[in-house]
Amino acid sequence: MKAIQITETGGPEVLQLRDIEAPTPTEDQVLVAVDVAGINYIDTYYREGVYHAAIPFVPGQEGTGRVLHDPQGIIAEGTLVAWMDAFGSYAERVCVPRERLVAVPEGVDPHVAGSMLLQGITAHYLTHGVHDLQEGESCLITAGAGGVGLIATQMAAAKGARVYSVVSTEEKVELALAAGATEVFLYSAELAETVRRRNGGVGVDVVYDGVGKDTFQESLEAVRPRGTVCLFGAASGAVEPFDPQLLNTHGSIFLTRPSMGAYTSGEGEFRMRAQAVTQGVVDGTLNFRIGGVYPLADAAQAHRDIQARRTTGSIVLQVS
Ligand code: NDP
Repeated sequence: MKAIQITETGGPEVLQLRDIEAPTPTEDQVLVAVDVAGINYIDTYYREGVYHAAIPFVPGQEGTGRVLHDPQGIIAEGTLVAWMDAFGSYAERVCVPRERLVAVPEGVDPHVAGSMLLQGITAHYLTHGVHDLQEGESCLITAGAGGVGLIATQMAAAKGARVYSVVSTEEKVELALAAGATEVFLYSAELAETVRRRNGGVGVDVVYDGVGKDTFQESLEAVRPRGTVCLFGAASGAVEPFDPQLLNTHGSIFLTRPSMGAYTSGEGEFRMRAQAVTQGVVDGTLNFRIGGVYPLADAAQAHRDIQARRTTGSIVLQVS
């Protein structure tokens, strides 16, 4: 099969298209023919070696396609599915853990189906789990026109929260506003002060910060006393170690660094969040913006674009 295989970690150039053997599913997996693979920022951490995977490996964790073989005979061949947590999705075939597979309703755009679960479930656990936003509350979302950012904005706005968002370009400002943000700002050293001023002089109830290093300080300052800073990613790099006393001086604030695993591990939790995302796609209340479709062979260019902040919304690889 054709696959993007990494034989050494590094820059985007290590994403090479190769012919390799198709994987064989275990009893708990289902073999799937991949139509579209979703691209997520986390894929760049694995490519660079910031997160570790045994070499050689095929990157990618989610996608959509049709079932080829279920060793337990439960899921019929040809069933249209989407998945996440299936390492090796940048390929024509992937083995998907059965419990991370969902059926795709007829009529869903394959590019949306291939990118909705990882970013959608992240946005869901942030806005419904880490801090279950309530009507009238306020939040700040960094990278508000990115994959997670646009969906988290829609979910937070749907709950009746005031959503402040921060992005890097005017085009991204427009996208975040269209997703339901109350106000959108460009990054600046006065970000926290501006957010507080617009929020009636008080900090926001929760900051969802997926940018990390460059925004962390402003995130601490933008939150209200006893509010929550949720550091869920590091697109600009990892936050430096710091003195926990800072949480005291910023008003007894809470800091959390959540993972997808922890927020999908409860009984039925993955299915509940996946169902909420899929339902939102089907009934049109969640709009996934597909900001780029790349041929499988151009995975390196896709990684260059997402890391250069040139992308908006979700981006995908067209595999077949
Ligand atoms: P995005 O589509 O949001 O792309 C990353 C965005 O980060 C860019 O578009 C850019 O938006 C912003 N950014 C700010 N500074 C930089 C920088 N120095 N270099 C590159 N980008 C920068 O990606 P995803 O939606 O896939 O992921 C968003 C974040 O969420 C990532 O940090 C990811 O690791 C994290 N994540 C965490 C999960 C978890 O469970 N903890 C699960 C899924 C994602 P702008 O130009 O507007 O600043």
